[in-house]
Amino acid sequence: MAIGGDVEVLTCPRCGYSKTIPYRLGDYVGKVVDETCPNDGERLVVHAIYSSRPTEQYS
Ligand SMILES: [Zn+2]
Repeated sequence: MAIGGDVEVLTCPRCGYSKTIPYRLGDYVGKVVDETCPNDGERLVVHAIYSSRPTEQYS
């Protein structure tokens, strides 16, 4: 499902909501993305980018 195994964490600066999505080329920590918080509509910010472990995806 994930392509390269890299993921990024998006957070809402207003309420602290966060979600993890597959890394998108060009995104960086601190970038304000187009996605919005489901709680208050605030724009989400890239909080962290890291490599996940694709080896754990085996079932
Ligand atoms: Zn929020």
